[in-house]
Amino acid sequence: MNFIVTIDGPSSSGKSTLAKKLAKKLSFAHIDSGSIYRAVTLYALQNNLLLNGKFLINKLISSLSTSHISLKENKNGIFKMHINDLDVEDKIRGSKVSNHVSEIAKFQKIREFVLKIQRDISKDKSIVMDGRDIGSFVFPNADVKFYIDSSIETRSMRRYHQLKQSEKKLSIDDVRYDLLSRDQIDKTRKNSPLIIPKNSLFINNDDRSIGDVLNQMLDHTKSIINKKMH
Ligand code: C5P
Repeated sequence: MNFIVTIDGPSSSGKSTLAKKLAKKLSFAHIDSGSIYRAVTLYALQNNLLLNGKFLINKLISSLSTSHISLKENKNGIFKMHINDLDVEDKIRGSKVSNHVSEIAKFQKIREFVLKIQRDISKDKSIVMDGRDIGSFVFPNADVKFYIDSSIETRSMRRYHQLKQSEKKLSIDDVRYDLLSRDQIDKTRKNSPLIIPKNSLFINNDDRSIGDVLNQMLDHTKSIINKKMH
């Protein structure tokens, strides 16, 4: 029996870290759906499809079918984004991609391309997938759904600490601005905006440790899965 656990929430809410840990505890695959949107954005930047601050979106959409953007499982069972067989996990995390990804993720055709990857990869296994529209749109009938949130202050500090090693010039104000603008685009877009999915467990993790939140998520997931199995 395969199960689907979804985790939605805004940028740097801690959802990917929690998703990874939860998947490990449950021996499920973890899929970070934001990484697929990030890879599409990197592909657009690498192929000069950003002109005078605007993406050549039709050109991008038509070239996606031959883009070779895929998730590949490594020998430790972890799924990593690849473009043309090259692991792009480091490249997709930088602020250049972050600054543009929500703009790309607004387009219906781009979302359809990502949806196919999301559905294909989940066909034959139990998964924990995190993102913005996973419990609401990608898997509305998922077995277990979470919505993870934290304040803009907490989220900015987290993201700043993640990036400051590799991007010395970055300020906390730059990070806060990026997060707020991505929140705004993600929550107000027409195509599958970020919402709290129906039947999801809402968790604010501002003043809580990762271990504490993880235990709550694990208990919640196990109790639902046990009921479904018996
Ligand atoms: O989770 P992460 O910050 O890596 O996601 C990058 C961007 O990808 C988000 O800001 C959002 O615009 C887009 N995204 C989305 N739907 C998802 C996952 C990510 O629109 N399911």
